[in-house]
Amino acid sequence: MDVSLTRDWVQNIASAMSRNQDHLTALDSAIGDGDHGANMARGFGAARTRLDAASPAATSVDEILVTTGKTLVSVVGGASGPLFGSAFRALGEALGEDSGPGAEIDARRFAAALAAALDKLQQLGAAVPGDKTMVDAYAPAVSAFRDAAQSGADFCTAARAAADAAEAGMRATVPMQARKGRASYLGLRSIGHQDPGATSTAYVFRALAEVAAA
Ligand code: ADP
Ligand code: MG
Ligand code: MG
Repeated sequence: MDVSLTRDWVQNIASAMSRNQDHLTALDSAIGDGDHGANMARGFGAARTRLDAASPAATSVDEILVTTGKTLVSVVGGASGPLFGSAFRALGEALGEDSGPGAEIDARRFAAALAAALDKLQQLGAAVPGDKTMVDAYAPAVSAFRDAAQSGADFCTAARAAADAAEAGMRATVPMQARKGRASYLGLRSIGHQDPGATSTAYVFRALAEVAAA
């Protein structure tokens, strides 16, 4: 992963969120307040606009990810803004130095940064796997990326494994009862619906796999 792929990633996420906005809205209407599609489209759209304004030569992977995270925190009002935003910020901060123009981040280094992002997400939201949140897609994605990287897979293969795992995790939220966030107010009635945040998390990892394969 390098500067150009990181920019492509954020742009691809923004496109996915805008393309799937209605689906995310429908999912959040069933077990929440119906704003998740608008939240994601607005947040990642704003991040894309900010990146478009910055010169590619004068930026680094960590800056792009930290800027994306800060934008999500400041632009998205819902629970998902601070959670996703802080995770992106932690991802960027974990990559830190030596991620400037010309730097190439390999799968192992990115796996470690993803683990830091997941830690931040769980510290902030206090959700564990099984609570029917974005963690149910994020955690399996991070594990799959790490397992692939540890067995010597390249970035592209690890990203594809992460995207597949995030999608499986997303689907696995359907029979769960929500224990965190708005959906938890529904109690047993949250069962039988796919979690919106787990769905947008699957888009984030699929977007990475797509740009890494291109
Ligand atoms: P809000 O619920 O404030 O309207 P969104 O609709 O944008 O915010 O996001 C809802 C998603 O946020 C949920 O589907 C869930 O995945 C995620 N979420 C909510 N609370 C938590 C939490 N404590 N930890 C992790 N994810 C959470
Ligand atoms: Mg909502
Ligand atoms: Mg809301």
